[in-house]
This record gives sequence, structure tokens and C-alpha cells, in this order.
Amino acid sequence: MLRYFPTALERLTEEFAKLPGIGGKTAQRLAFHVLSLSDEEAEAFANAITEAKRTVHCCPVCQNLTDGALCAICDDERRDHSVICVVAEPRDVIAMERAREYDGVYHVLHGVISPLNHVGPDDIRIRELLARVAKGGVREVIMATNPDTEGEATAMYLSRLLRPMEVKVTRLAYGIPVGSQLEYADEVTLLRALEGRREM
Ligand SMILES: [Zn+2]
Repeated sequence: MLRYFPTALERLTEEFAKLPGIGGKTAQRLAFHVLSLSDEEAEAFANAITEAKRTVHCCPVCQNLTDGALCAICDDERRDHSVICVVAEPRDVIAMERAREYDGVYHVLHGVISPLNHVGPDDIRIRELLARVAKGGVREVIMATNPDTEGEATAMYLSRLLRPMEVKVTRLAYGIPVGSQLEYADEVTLLRALEGRREM
């Protein structure tokens, strides 16, 4: 097959095409854009990728992303460490923090149970949550997974596992329409969901 572009350019295009939501045309446009950058700009871009990979890891307590020994929230003594809000993704922590009312800590599952997508309980950070609760000192676990089928199923599954551990398990009272996502909920809706949470 006749190659139109140099190998390195093809390779860069292929890498961009692997990114979520990037099609072939866009990948090519991005690759050309990178070529138009100055040497310094291109190096800064490449460094940002390797630097993020090198320094960002999961907080050993809550599994949220951090570049420290603990994440800023787990490390904050003013937060109530006896209340854990369980969310599916790191971006959901940001959504909850926007509401500014929650002063407990988090647990990030990194996904939800989804038989259709072959994601089982062992594929997300459930074990870590159970170990954390088993250690004691936890009063309440708030399920804040999205109010869609998989989010609900995951919350139900977790509440069954947690109930024997003598901890109160609650679910956000979603004024958020069913099927919508936590990360797009506005502050007032989230605040109401938090205040009206019910025991599962
Ligand atoms: Zn943490």
C-alpha cells in the first residue's frame, strides 16, 4: 500500500485515534497540529503526558486520584472521616465538592457493576471499601452512584454487603432525573439529594 505520510506522522495519528471520542479525521487533524507546534510546545505536551502518568496514582484510602501520599480530602482533619460517600468516578467527587455542603470523605469505585460490559464486583474497588469499613470508625456510607440501572444495581449490591457490618447505608434522594448523571447535576439539586438521603 502506498504510504502518503511519514511513518512517525502515521504513528502519531494512530495514537490520537485510540483516544475516546476521536475519529480518524480528527486524529489526523490533531497530528498535523502537533507538527505545527514549536519544539518547546511539543516537548511540553509530551512531558505533560509522561508526568501525569508518573505522578498520579490512586489514594490508598479512598482510591481517588492524587499525586500525594494521601489525597487532599483524606488528608484533611477537618473532614468527617466517619461518613463515606461512595461514587463511581473521580469526576463525581468534583461534582459533590461543588455542592460545598458535604464534609465527609469519599470512596471512588472506578466504575459500576455492569454484566453487559463484563464488569463484575471484583473489577471495581469494592474490596477496598469493605476493608475500610471493617476497620471500624465508619458511621454512615452514602451511595452516590448514578440513578441509572447499573448505578442502582451497584448501590444495592454494596448495601447488602455492608448491612451486616453495622453501618448505616443511605442512598442520595435523587431529585436528579432517573438515568441522568451525577457529574452534570447542579449544586442545588445535589444539595437536596444529600439532605434528603434515605436509609437503604
Ligand atoms: Zn483519599
